[in-house]
Amino acid sequence: AKSQGASRIAFFDESLRAASTAAIETATALRGAVRRGELEVHYQPIVMTSTRKTVVYEALVRWRHGGRLRGPGDFIGIAESTDLIGEIGEEVLRTALTDLAVLRAEGQDVTMSVNISPVQLRNDSLPGIVGKLLEELGLKGSDLALEVTETALIDDVYAAKAILDRLAAMDVLIVLDDFGVGYSSLSRLRELPIGLLKIDRSFIAEIGTTNSGGSLVSAIAAMARALPVSIVAEGVETEQQARAIEALHCRFAQGYLYGRPAPLQHWLKQSATTAS
Ligand code: C2E
Ligand code: CA
Ligand code: CA
Ligand code: CA
Repeated sequence: AKSQGASRIAFFDESLRAASTAAIETATALRGAVRRGELEVHYQPIVMTSTRKTVVYEALVRWRHGGRLRGPGDFIGIAESTDLIGEIGEEVLRTALTDLAVLRAEGQDVTMSVNISPVQLRNDSLPGIVGKLLEELGLKGSDLALEVTETALIDDVYAAKAILDRLAAMDVLIVLDDFGVGYSSLSRLRELPIGLLKIDRSFIAEIGTTNSGGSLVSAIAAMARALPVSIVAEGVETEQQARAIEALHCRFAQGYLYGRPAPLQHWLKQSATTAS
């Protein structure tokens, strides 16, 4: 048993070494990625359930690296554990707001929603960066939404609250992402300037696949109605799920049923076809 334990330790040691070597390689490659223009931002529509018209686009970062497109799951964690997330976050904000100005010029009456890492919420330079970008691009605070997760809020709620309050004072909409999977209490939500809740897609996925048939979504929607917030159902993939969340008065929805994340060009062509 003893020798078995020892070999297991040796095995873990090897896999750990391999994992950290890969992480170091990714971090090194990522460091040049922003400079080389390898980061792209794709956009996924958020629709109003009553009309199914796009009202917001969510910016989702991609990395064109070694001939393939890598999703945020491959590199955001590494960016967060190094000092790269600030630079990447700022680049995504700049790209997303620049593209929003293009969509507006094409006549699309939409706003832009950008994901913010918990690490960015620990740095009080964020409101200044946002303010400067909005001014540069001739946009208003109300043109932008920032999506934060509950992780960001449990870390250091006072620091996060101070930053979010400053952003909300600029009319930036604060969105709580992945709602329901974290630890938020109702009193916590009441303290923070949150205007929109995104119900995590794991709750939407249970509609039509389990016997509970979305009872959790229904409970969350009821709770949200008691707060001064609107709700977005994320990860809507089927017509059945769409009808269920409409019946629960979710005001907004997002998911493959309405549209997958795609480059700006795709959504510009989209508006050209619907206008003609
Ligand atoms: P998220 O903010 O919860 O974004 C939603 C994710 O679900 C996206 O994955 C999207 O492509 C995917 N999705 C949307 N609709 C559906 C659907 O109907 N079914 C299924 N199965 N999936 C759907 P993606 O683009 O891989 O992003 C993953 C996560 O990476 C995001 O989760 C967000 O937390 C993070 N992320 C993305 N872009 C950024 C960024 O610019 N900065 C930071 N800090 N995080 C980002
Ligand atoms: Ca999000
Ligand atoms: Ca989410
Ligand atoms: Ca998520």
